[in-house]
Amino acid sequence: MVDSSEARVSHLERDPLNLPRSRRRVVRWLVAVLSVVAATGVVVLSGQVIRPTPNALYFCAVIFSAWLGGFGPGLLASFLSALAVKYFDTPSLHTLLVSPGELPRLLLFLGSGVFISWVCGQQRRADEALRLLSKRLEGRVQERTRELHKLTEELKAEMADRKQAETQLRQIETTLVHATRVTTIGELTASIAHEVNQPLAAVMNNANACLGLLSAGPENSVELSHALTEIVHDVERASAVIERTRSLAKNAAPNFAPQNLHSLVSDVLVLVRHESDARHVTIQIELPDALPLVPGDRVQLQQVMLNLVLNALDAMAEVEAKRRLLVIRGQRGVLERVPVVIISVRDFGVGFQVEDVERLFKPFHTTKVQGLGLGLAICRSIIEAHNGRLWAEPSDGPGATLSFCLPAIA
Ligand code: ADP
Repeated sequence: MVDSSEARVSHLERDPLNLPRSRRRVVRWLVAVLSVVAATGVVVLSGQVIRPTPNALYFCAVIFSAWLGGFGPGLLASFLSALAVKYFDTPSLHTLLVSPGELPRLLLFLGSGVFISWVCGQQRRADEALRLLSKRLEGRVQERTRELHKLTEELKAEMADRKQAETQLRQIETTLVHATRVTTIGELTASIAHEVNQPLAAVMNNANACLGLLSAGPENSVELSHALTEIVHDVERASAVIERTRSLAKNAAPNFAPQNLHSLVSDVLVLVRHESDARHVTIQIELPDALPLVPGDRVQLQQVMLNLVLNALDAMAEVEAKRRLLVIRGQRGVLERVPVVIISVRDFGVGFQVEDVERLFKPFHTTKVQGLGLGLAICRSIIEAHNGRLWAEPSDGPGATLSFCLPAIA
């Protein structure tokens, strides 16, 4: 289909005489004369075979001239052919004088020639118009193709710029997430130091006891082994706290894996235990045993948990000590027909107004003297990158509840 239309266009574009315009005109008229001369030559040379009926041959000459040169050369060929026909094919043979009886026949021949020339001329004109049109069209198509090419190049450059900007933005985001995490760890220095010092003090006590038992004699081997087991246990405890702190402080690429929310929450609570004790806050955990795993980066999810818990502790700083209760609750739920696990952190602190709910997540919104106002904004972006949601609600009664949900692994 495409091939045949291409062939038609190239046929229209081809000019039968591939010459400059002025020369082409001369050649067209010359061809009209020569085609009649050629027909006459054939008539003369053929003797009696064609001479009595030469009309067909002269019509061919007229058609050829009109096809090649248009109406004018066709007309000239018609006149010349009429003369030749008169000369060879009329009762008064070999004379150009026309008798009245021959006139209608000659006029009929001439009329036919003029008609053929006109038809061929029209055809030729239509061909030329088409050729011109197709040339113009081709020109337009080339121009549009060039514009399109330029546009594509510009678009490609813009896309490359955007990609680079997105990569830079992602790097900045990662740096920011890490920086706020380190800041949070900074707030927990006392708590972490306490969690490390406690087992180290126990190690010291047990080591002293071992020394005493050793000097008392070999009969104390059972007590000795008990004290050494305690030492190993305490060293493991201290090194676990250091390891957790180290992994939180590291700026590693996110590593998505199925996470057990029980162990994730208890890891976080180890780090804040001293802080919550110091602020006289009771922490209550309500996590059902059969809570599904969730896919996620452990460090980032711990960062979210830490932030929510520390905000809850801050919110209760001003309320009376007996009201300071923090409840961490876990339950199954459904979000947009997807099974999820919902974790909520409920406190009995100062709370906030319903109309302020969305403001809490705006970057740099803080009511704390030392606050950055980035914690909740970053937590929300972390949870959303995990295909979850993070939201805040004022509680019925005092305090607030901040919750997040993550898709459950069935
Ligand atoms: P920062 O802790 O640095 O202020 P966040 O983004 O974590 O930044 O918190 C923004 C603000 O949201 C806090 O300053 C506080 O006013 C409010 N907020 C967060 N959690 C609670 C909460 N549990 N109860 C009351 N207000 C809260």
